[in-house]
Amino acid sequence: MKLRILMSLYLAIVLLPLGLAAVQARPPRPFWDELATGAGMLAFSIILAEFLLSGRFRTVSGGVGLDVTLRLHQLIARTAVALAFIHPFLYTVPMSPPMIWDASRQYTVTSDFWSLAGGIVAWLLLPVLVLLAIGRSQFSYSYEVWRLMHGVGAALIAGAVLQHSLWAGRYSQDPVLAAVWVAMAGVALASLVFVYLWAPLKQMSRRWRVVGVTAVGPRLWDLVLEPDGHKGLRYTAGQFAWLNLRHSPFSLRENPFSIASAPALGGQLRFIIKEFGDATRKLGAVEPGTRAYLDGPHGNLVVEGRPEPGVALIAGGVGIAPLIGILRQLHATKDPRATLLVYGNRIEEQIVHRAELDAIAAAQGTKIIHVLSEPPVGWAGEAGLIDAALIKKHFPAPDCQSWVYVICGPGAMMETVEETLSDLGVPASQVLSERFSYD
Ligand SMILES: Cc1cc2nc3c(=O)[nH]c(=O)nc-3n(C[C@H](O)[C@H](O)[C@H](O)COP(=O)(O)OP(=O)(O)OC[C@H]3O[C@@H](n4cnc5c(N)ncnc54)[C@H](O)[C@@H]3O)c2cc1C
Repeated sequence: MKLRILMSLYLAIVLLPLGLAAVQARPPRPFWDELATGAGMLAFSIILAEFLLSGRFRTVSGGVGLDVTLRLHQLIARTAVALAFIHPFLYTVPMSPPMIWDASRQYTVTSDFWSLAGGIVAWLLLPVLVLLAIGRSQFSYSYEVWRLMHGVGAALIAGAVLQHSLWAGRYSQDPVLAAVWVAMAGVALASLVFVYLWAPLKQMSRRWRVVGVTAVGPRLWDLVLEPDGHKGLRYTAGQFAWLNLRHSPFSLRENPFSIASAPALGGQLRFIIKEFGDATRKLGAVEPGTRAYLDGPHGNLVVEGRPEPGVALIAGGVGIAPLIGILRQLHATKDPRATLLVYGNRIEEQIVHRAELDAIAAAQGTKIIHVLSEPPVGWAGEAGLIDAALIKKHFPAPDCQSWVYVICGPGAMMETVEETLSDLGVPASQVLSERFSYD
């Protein structure tokens, strides 16, 4: 439902300039010229709306998930590139300097360099920005450098297209449409100010302190934070936050991690972090007392308040982080719902907090199914991968159709589980998932 509302709102925003152009009483032009202008306008409104799909706004990504929001952001950006690319080639009317007899630009498009300048800059920059984003993993620069380039590049493109639209746009000569473009560009700019200035400023007064970092498996760490002079974070079990360790809140060095603790257990926050790249590999060297900042909570892996009689948690590897948070919360609040955890790893040593999981299972009646792809000799649990057969074995239809499913783990595992649940007749609204990578 929320997705439908968001999609309708998105379409309304993106199509508003075209609608305002359509109701203007201007003399008609050939079809291809109207299409050229329409493509350019649509590309611009999509570019401006992209700022809101950057993943940092809870109203936008909260309902559908950060991974879905960012995937949409990526796919829609490609549409904008295609529209912007064809925009100048579709015109059939000739280019000319402004003609007194063609005030409504029915028969000519402007050839004035300064009216075209912003458009040319954006036309060249936009594909570069999108290609750099698509091929990000192929380049050697860090995520933070990419993020900075992406933000600055996007702001430059938006400014350049605004200039081009206001100076050259046939329909943007109308003051209402011009005001709408300026307002939309203002909102896009405000979103950058919010993310890079306002949010860090707020974080400054809500510092966190590292209590400890403990190894809980090979290249796996348990990080505990406590609020430094404030009441802590109001979050729901299963959510995540962007964590900045040691750096200024204005630095771009922050990473998203799921909160593995339960709000019912107090103000300390726990994370389970797997070493991956430059930031996470240094985690073992983080000293107690280290300063930290958080941007959150975000995310929609939330089972609190849901009506389903059972909660199935399906985790692969470090995907256990948000699910253990949910399990801890269900246990701490003595939630009466039935629970089942399917937890897959490669080797036994990667199972984190096993004793605690067993204790919760005993107290809460949670069934835990451990799955190892490289089991040791004498392993009594499941062997292999979390695949369709395993899911069908432990969640037989039709009983499984009434439960809510929370899935987090490697992409391939998540796709298999999502498809299998769909085959078993579990409605999509009862499947919550979070991808740790959205490339
Ligand atoms: C919603 C969400 C929740 C996550 N929860 C956990 C968790 O609980 N435990 C865990 O071990 N991992 C989690 N991850 C993955 C974790 O964020 C990355 O492994 C981590 O950021 C890698 O950082 P690095 O500097 O070590 O590696 P890098 O090599 O710098 O980054 C590797 C990749 O991590 C992603 N990444 C890095 N920085 C950011 C950023 N600021 N914003 C978005 N993505 C970024 C990018 O895809 C990047 O290509 C989560 C990811 C997401 C999106």
